[in-house]
Amino acid sequence: MLLRHTTAKEIDRHALTINPAKICQPIGAMYAALGLHGCLPHSHGSQGCCSYHRSTLTRHFKEPVLASTSSFSEGSSVFGGSANLLSAIETIFTVYNPDVIAVHTTCLSETIGDDLHEIVEKAKEEGKVPEGKEVIYCNTPSYKGTHITGYSNQTAAFVKFFSQTTGKKDNTINLVAGWMEPSDINEIKRIAKVMNIKTIVFPDLTNVLDTPLTGTFNMFPKGGTTIPEMKATGDSKCSLGIGPYSTLDACTKLKEKCGVDFETVEIPIGLKATDRFLMTLSKLAGVSIPDSLTEERGRLVDFIADNAKYFWGKRVALFGDPDILIPTVEFLLTLDMKPVYLVTGTPGKHFDEKMVELLKDKVPEAKFKSGEQADMFQLHQWIKQKPVDLLMGNTYGKYIARDENVPFVRLGFPIVDRAGHNFFPKTGYIGSENLAINILRELLDFQDRTCREEKMEFQM
Ligand code: SF4
Repeated sequence: MLLRHTTAKEIDRHALTINPAKICQPIGAMYAALGLHGCLPHSHGSQGCCSYHRSTLTRHFKEPVLASTSSFSEGSSVFGGSANLLSAIETIFTVYNPDVIAVHTTCLSETIGDDLHEIVEKAKEEGKVPEGKEVIYCNTPSYKGTHITGYSNQTAAFVKFFSQTTGKKDNTINLVAGWMEPSDINEIKRIAKVMNIKTIVFPDLTNVLDTPLTGTFNMFPKGGTTIPEMKATGDSKCSLGIGPYSTLDACTKLKEKCGVDFETVEIPIGLKATDRFLMTLSKLAGVSIPDSLTEERGRLVDFIADNAKYFWGKRVALFGDPDILIPTVEFLLTLDMKPVYLVTGTPGKHFDEKMVELLKDKVPEAKFKSGEQADMFQLHQWIKQKPVDLLMGNTYGKYIARDENVPFVRLGFPIVDRAGHNFFPKTGYIGSENLAINILRELLDFQDRTCREEKMEFQM
C-alpha cells in the first residue's frame, strides 16, 4: 500500500500537483542532442541538474549518456554563469573534441537570465571555438513545458543553426522524428527503405543509445544525423513531422528558413496511425506501398482478429506523453478496448481535441486531462472511483498498479525497472503487434494468477 493516502474523493486543488505526468525540459533537449552525430549535450546550470538528466536517460537506455555541465557554484548562481560556460566551451573542445556542443539552459540559468547568444558569440570572439566546430543552444526553462518541449526546442535548434538551402530542391524527404525509442526510429527508417524513399532523419537516435558492446569505448557513437545531412535538410522536397508535439516547431522553422513544406502525422503506433503514416509517405514521395508492407498489415489484422475476445471491453488507464498517448488510444479502440482515464503533463490543445474526437462516441464516460495540473494522483483517484483492467505508462505507474492490483504495461519514458523496451519497436505494423502482444500477455498472466481455480484454462 505505497500510495495508501490516495483517496477516491477528489478535492479542488489549483495550487498543488502530486506526481506530475511529465519530467523536466532539459532531459528532452539532452536526448535530442544525442541524435546529432558528434554532439556533446551541455547543461548550463548546476551539476545536480545534469546528473539527474544523465542518470534518467542512462537508466532508461542502459547505456552511458555523456553530457557536460557549466557546474554552477554559489557565485555563478548570483552573478551569472557566463564565465563558467566560456571556460567549459574551451575545456570541452580541448579534452573531448566534439563536432558540436549543444548547450541547453536549466531553471537556474534561466532565472538568472543568462544570454546564451551573447556568451557563445563571446566564446567565438575569444577563439574558444575551433575552426569547423559549432556551439548551438536552446532555452529549456523547466518551470514551463516538459521534456517534450525540451526535445522540440533542441530539434528546432538543429534547424536554426544548420539547415541551409542552395535553391535547388532534391527528392529527399526529411523525417523529423518525435520522441521515440531508437528501435522505433529504426523501424520507421526500415519502412522508408522498403518504400525506396530517400530520407534524412533527424534527430536520429539509432546507433547512439542502442549500440553493441564491442569492448571499445567511443566517446561519440557512429549513429546520429550528420552535420552535412542536417545542412541538406533545407534542400529537401518536404518534411514529415512524426509526432506533432515534438516536431511541429522544427518543421515550421524549416519552412520559414528554407521554404520546405511539411506535414505532421501521429507517431505510427497501431493500425490506423500506421496506415496514415504509410499513405502520407506514399503521397509525399510519389511511390506506391509495396506488397511486403501490406502483408505486415495483414498479419497485424490477423492477430487482432484471433485475440479480439481477450481485448474486448477492457477498461484502460494511461498516462505519459501526448505523441505516444494519442495513437495508443486510437489503437486500443481498434482492439475494442476502452481507454477510460488519460493524463499527460504536457500542455497543448491538440491532445484534448484528439481525445474528444476519438472517445466521444466510443467511450463517452472517458476522463482525460492535460497540462501542469494533470497528475498521476488524479489518475489514481479516478481508478479508485471505478477500477480499470489495465494500466499503461512509464515506471512511475508501478506503485498504482501494485496498490490497485491491475496488470501494468510499461510504455513511454522513463522505464527504469525493466529491459528490452528500447529493442522492440512499437511503431509500424510489426511494432504495433509487439505492443498488442505485450498487452495480451499482461492481461492473460493476470487472469492466470488471479482467476478462481475452476476457471483456470490450460489453453486460452
Ligand atoms: S526541474 Fe529545473 S532545477 Fe530541477 S533538474 Fe530540471 S532543470 Fe534542474
